Amino acid sequence: MLRDFGVEAPEHIVIEAMADAAGAEIVESADRFSATARLVRVNDRAAIRVSASIATEGARRFSIAHELGHLVLGHEESLASLCTLALPGGGADLENEANAFAAELLMPEALVRRRCEVSPVDLEIARGIARDFRVSLLAAARRFVELTSERCALAYARGGAVRWVARSATFAPDIAAGRRLDPDSIAHDVLRGKVDDRPQDVPASSWLDMSDDGGTEIVEHAAPIPEVGAVASLLWIPERRAAALRCFD
Ligand SMILES: [Zn+2]
Repeated sequence: MLRDFGVEAPEHIVIEAMADAAGAEIVESADRFSATARLVRVNDRAAIRVSASIATEGARRFSIAHELGHLVLGHEESLASLCTLALPGGGADLENEANAFAAELLMPEALVRRRCEVSPVDLEIARGIARDFRVSLLAAARRFVELTSERCALAYARGGAVRWVARSATFAPDIAAGRRLDPDSIAHDVLRGKVDDRPQDVPASSWLDMSDDGGTEIVEHAAPIPEVGAVASLLWIPERRAAALRCFD
């Protein structure tokens, strides 16, 4: 699809035109679904119904791209239940495939990867991707972590616990879903309304399972996601500190 549309810059990614070319009509719906969008068949045409409750342009574009993924990847037959836009950890393969399709369609690797090869790492890079590619900060930060060669992870937390974590290929430690937020983490402060919007050093043990971190620190840049009362933390292990955490390699 990217080739067909001659996509060479973010502004060439016109999701409505791509849906139309794939035979799907976008229908705005006043109904509030449990999902934010879904794919429906109407005879030989497909429709992507987008809920009016989607608050932001980024979320709307991602929802449409996700449903387009189901259509283009031929998932319809298998979609017995409503699409739930599951995020990692959800375990539904088709949902993960549709999310991967949406991420590549809206933030093509060929256009984004170069921006991800940076150091130091902070959320400003993701904010730039979100702005230029018109996606949410969360979607942009996930894409950054997917493509960067730096040791990074994105942790999404709500209600005092980690809900899911996306790790870069070089980030060895596992951070389990369900982990309680450590009081030393910035995410913990942000969920309590104490926002300090910059990358900060935190004890490695506040995020990683280790009995003694020997004073090693990692970098955390946390931002609130006010629409859902959540927080996203971008974690980074700088090269010079990685040696102290070799136990994870
Ligand atoms: Zn889905």
